[in-house]
Amino acid sequence: MTQVFKFGGASVQDAAAIRRVGELLARFRARPLIVVVSAMGKTTNALEALLAAAREGEAADYQERLETLRREHLTTVEALFGDRAGPVKKRVESLLTELDQRHRRHARRERPFHYDQTVCFGELLSTTIISAWLDEIGMATEWQDARDLVVTDDCYQAANVDWQATAERVRAMASDNDRIHITQGFIGGTVEGTSTTLGREGSDFSAAILAHCLDAEEVTIWKDVPGIFNADPRRVDNAVQLEQISYDEAVELAWHGAKVIHPKTLGPLQQKSIPLTVRSFEDLEAPPSTIGQDTRFDTQTPSLILREAQTLLEIRTRDFTFMDEARQHDILGRLVEAGLHAGLIDAGAMRLSLSLDGHPERLEPLVASLCEDYAVERCDDLTLLNVRHADDALLAALSAGRDSLAERRNADTAQRLFPGSQCRGTWHIPR
Ligand code: ASP
Ligand code: MG
Repeated sequence: MTQVFKFGGASVQDAAAIRRVGELLARFRARPLIVVVSAMGKTTNALEALLAAAREGEAADYQERLETLRREHLTTVEALFGDRAGPVKKRVESLLTELDQRHRRHARRERPFHYDQTVCFGELLSTTIISAWLDEIGMATEWQDARDLVVTDDCYQAANVDWQATAERVRAMASDNDRIHITQGFIGGTVEGTSTTLGREGSDFSAAILAHCLDAEEVTIWKDVPGIFNADPRRVDNAVQLEQISYDEAVELAWHGAKVIHPKTLGPLQQKSIPLTVRSFEDLEAPPSTIGQDTRFDTQTPSLILREAQTLLEIRTRDFTFMDEARQHDILGRLVEAGLHAGLIDAGAMRLSLSLDGHPERLEPLVASLCEDYAVERCDDLTLLNVRHADDALLAALSAGRDSLAERRNADTAQRLFPGSQCRGTWHIPR
């Protein structure tokens, strides 16, 4: 049965990382194997900056950024191929020329369209180099253009998958079983042949799309960390790895803001009971984390998610009337229009409290509109603590010395909103 591997930007960021991918793939003889790859390192950010420079008419800045991209990719090619680099360098050069031409052709079009025609080159570049490297070390690979495989609508920058058309094309590709198929994450194409993207960090989702269409045995996401943790190890000094969690638990963690896996990834896998494994490419012996059907381990380890830069809005009616369903509907409707997500929602008789991510450009117009009809109290720079499967003692310990400004709790998740100034630095989960 088919295996799908996904390598993110960090795992292909330079020649050493790409060599490691080659060594890793050489150990896995299982076929068929589909390999989904992101753009190298921070290339997508660099392409976004390049596009912004172009759209703001900063021609010199654009040229310089294009040159930096060329230099970085060519340096990797030279480091990998040495004096045999010629043909691959030529392919990289011609992709960059195509990028430049496309950008110029579409510069007057609306930004999302222009974005997708330009930013898709990050993944085209990385897969071109990696596929050539795998051929160089004697592995039979087939480079696939994901824009011909993942068929989407024309909702640029957040394209929706046409599952049936995609399944037909993906199955036709995979009928050739002996070779490793290498393709791009993050990108797709319309039936008319324009390039689309699936949303930032969308390569995990790409792997899930292909796995779903092929009824794959498993998806493996290779990372520079051994797996999924119960808290961000950079913030929490005793974070532990979760070796086994269910799709539901993973979705909850992602929903509350954990950078576990792109949230769209889990649906297509859950529908077909395809497990998703997160493993370290740096330590192949380290036990991985697996997301699957089994819910038995979900409640064993409490997880902690800190969401920073929150704004609390306490919204009250002005005339001592209830905050009833009609008013909640009105307020939440304005939130949807503003494109804002509330990490915490709590209602009282005459009050609705919302904790919102502090996007100033979206928040300010929303607050202005709410102030026209309601009494609004606002508090900025807060940290929202989300704890899954906490008991009272753990919650009390985590809250000690911190002032809770809003809270909410259900059977499996507790949320508390604290002043950001009380939450900086390293956290510790008391046991
Ligand atoms: N390269 C894209 C991004 O950085 C997609 C991904 O890495 O998943 O957003
Ligand atoms: Mg990336």
